[in-house]
Amino acid sequence: RGQTGIDLGIDLKNLSISSLSESKIMLVDDDSIQSRQLIEKLSSVNKRIKLIEKPQEALDEAAKNSYDLIIVSTQLMDYDGLRLCSQLRSNELTRNVSIIILVDEDDTNSLIKGLEMGVNDYVITPVDVNELVARVRTQIRRKRYQDALRANYKQSVSLAITDGLTGLYNRRYMDTHLENIVREANDNLRPISVLMLDIDFFKKVNDTYGHHVGDEVIKEFASRIVNTIRPSDLAVRYGGEEFVVILHGTDAQNAAIAAERIRANVENTPFKVSTAEGVLPKTVSIGVSSFRKEGGDNVEALLKRADDALYVAKNGGRNKVEVIV
Ligand code: GH3
Ligand code: MG
Ligand code: MG
Repeated sequence: RGQTGIDLGIDLKNLSISSLSESKIMLVDDDSIQSRQLIEKLSSVNKRIKLIEKPQEALDEAAKNSYDLIIVSTQLMDYDGLRLCSQLRSNELTRNVSIIILVDEDDTNSLIKGLEMGVNDYVITPVDVNELVARVRTQIRRKRYQDALRANYKQSVSLAITDGLTGLYNRRYMDTHLENIVREANDNLRPISVLMLDIDFFKKVNDTYGHHVGDEVIKEFASRIVNTIRPSDLAVRYGGEEFVVILHGTDAQNAAIAAERIRANVENTPFKVSTAEGVLPKTVSIGVSSFRKEGGDNVEALLKRADDALYVAKNGGRNKVEVIV
C-alpha cells in the first residue's frame, strides 16, 4: 500500500499530518447536548466541525461544500438518519464522502442497514472518546487517499489522450475513435468532414528564433482553432505543426467555409511571440475532405483525401484552402 502511494507520487506521510486539521467534517445531530460533547471531543482532531441540527438541511449543505467526513446520528427526532446516508451516496456531488453513523448499542437493525447502504464506519453511543477520534482519523485519511488516487487517475487518463503542449487531443486518441465517430455520423445520415492543417514554412520559425518560439506559435495556433470551431467538433494535434479537425454535421461546402475562416484569421492576425518584434506573421495551408456516403468510403481514404488536398494547397503557393470531396 505504501509502495502504491510512492508509485503514484502521493505523499502519504504528508497526507496524514496535514489533512486532519484541514479536513471538513459535518456533524448531523439534533441532540444539542450530545453534539456539543462530540465537537468538544473531536477538537483535538479538528476545530472546524460544521454542526447541522436540522437534518433536512444536511444534503444541500453537503452538496454545496465538499466535506471529507459526515457523521450522522441515527437517533434523530423526526428524521431518518439512514435515509440521509442513502441520499448522500446516490447524489453525484456527495457520493464519495466518508460517512460514520452514530448508533445506539441496542439498535443492531440500523447498524446493519447502514453498513448495507455503504456507510464507512460506525460508533456506538454513548460515545467512547478515543474510539471516535481514531475512527474519524481513519476515515479522513481514507477519503484523502482516495481523492488523491482519483485525481491521479484523471490526470493519467488526460495525459494519455491529450497533447501536452496544446491540450488538444493527440493522434492516438483520434486513431482510436475516428472510426466510430465516422460510423455514427454515417448511421445518422449526418455529413462529416475533415480539415488537415499545416503551418506554412514553420521550420523557418525554429531556425530563426529557436524552438521555444516555434512552440509559442503552435500553442496559439491550437487555441485559435479551438476558438473557431464548435464544441462538438474535434481538434487534434496530428504531429509537429500539423493539425486535424473533425467537423460534425458539416458537409464539404461548409467545411471549406470553416477552413477559410481559420486561414484568414491566421493570415490577418500575427502570432504573439517572445521575440524583439513581439509578433510574427504566419500563414496556414488547409486540405478539406468529406466522408462519401456512397461507394465504400473509409476513414483511411477520408484522411488521405484531406492530405492530398493539403498537398495541392502547398504546391499551389500555400496560404490556401483546397477541397477534395
Ligand atoms: P511547409 O510550408 O511545407 O509546411 O514547410 P514547413 O517548414 O512547415 O515544413 P516541415 O513539415 O518540413 O517542417 C515542420 C517543422 O516543425 C520541422 C520540425 O522541426 C518542427 N516541429 C515539429 N514539432 C515541433 C514542436 O513541437 N515544436 C517546435 N518548435 N517545432 C516543431
Ligand atoms: Mg509539416
Ligand atoms: Mg508546415
